[in-house]
Amino acid sequence: MDLDFKGKKALVRVDFNVPLDKEYHITDDTRIRAAIPTIRHILDHGGSVILMSHFDRPLKKLLPDGSIDKEKFTLRHLLGRLSELLGEKVQFCETTVGPEAGKMAAALQPGQVLLLENTRFYKGEEKGDEELARQMAELGDLYINDAFGSAHRAHASTATVAQFFPPDKRAFGFLMKAEVENADRVVNNPERPLAAIVGGAKVSDKILLLERLIDLCDTLIIGGGMAYTFVKAQGGQIGKSLVEEDKTDLALELIKKARAKGVNLLLPADSRIADNFSNEANLKVASSDEIPEGWMGLDIGPQAVAAFETAIKSCKTILWNGPMGVFEFPNFAGGTKAVAEAVAAATAAGAFSLVGGGDSVAAVNQMGLDDKVSYVSTGGGAMLEFLEGKTLPGVAAIQG
Ligand code: AMP
Repeated sequence: MDLDFKGKKALVRVDFNVPLDKEYHITDDTRIRAAIPTIRHILDHGGSVILMSHFDRPLKKLLPDGSIDKEKFTLRHLLGRLSELLGEKVQFCETTVGPEAGKMAAALQPGQVLLLENTRFYKGEEKGDEELARQMAELGDLYINDAFGSAHRAHASTATVAQFFPPDKRAFGFLMKAEVENADRVVNNPERPLAAIVGGAKVSDKILLLERLIDLCDTLIIGGGMAYTFVKAQGGQIGKSLVEEDKTDLALELIKKARAKGVNLLLPADSRIADNFSNEANLKVASSDEIPEGWMGLDIGPQAVAAFETAIKSCKTILWNGPMGVFEFPNFAGGTKAVAEAVAAATAAGAFSLVGGGDSVAAVNQMGLDDKVSYVSTGGGAMLEFLEGKTLPGVAAIQG
């Protein structure tokens, strides 16, 4: 963001894909808040800001007559909250490109903000269409991408548009820069030992991540529902715990690979098990490989917690993706909470910790530990792909 914004119109791609209730009230404004520092910086340095964002998937949810449900998917719903957070009046354009957008952008004065309509009202957006991107580019003198959550998509407004700006006229916004730098700190030359904690429901969602982590990590901790596929693969009895039968061979391969590379792979030795999938279920603790018929593992057990805590606290860099159990049920949130606290304690003792992708972000927020870890990613799928080692089109388009 060390561009000269004075007297310039900055076209800023943000991720304002916030959840709304039935009356179109924002239920979580985290994504809008996350973009404020970038917008503020440009305004304070004499520029004006033209904001564009996608919202939901309007072309996948057309009205019965085949038209776009503009009332439902308009970014106008966000205008009030955005103005409030920014402390500035925000203008709104009912199109993203075209004569109306051109006119409003041209009239914009330093210190003013214009929000364009939902980029996904245009078919070309998700196709990365050049003509649409060219029309977007015409609106601004500079292009700033602050939409990390959309950086894994090669869309017109996230990637293609950047090619119409030379390298000295395009940049990451503060959020995007922080996300990329923090993820880099884990995957490129991390301070060792490096531990990754991976949880969540399914192995199949995280195959690439697990493979990459085995190459990167000193310690790999696997918890959550996905752990039972590993336990079953090694001959354990897992009752009716979550399992992906078609992934047991892969699990064995991952275990073998981890051994060959000298990675300390930890699975939960014991589990908190339930007789049905409910917070009110009967519960007890069992070895993860001796779960009785009719019971299922919904959280890691006390031995696993102790082992995971010890491993986490001995590391200098920690990556966490995915909860250790069904943390949405208070009776099965203990393992996730203990891990969150161990990550927080390691951070207090000097480790660098990144919580990124998957529901672990929701978990640390819910537990009020978000400011006790080094960085909580807003990125979801984008962070997961970055950690998997993929090139993110939105990042590459700026870096050139
Ligand atoms: P992810 O989005 O991959 O991070 O997965 C998160 C989901 O995994 C959460 O909704 C958890 O409830 C679920 N989950 C975690 N552990 C288990 C488990 N042992 N059994 C069933 N679901 C689980």
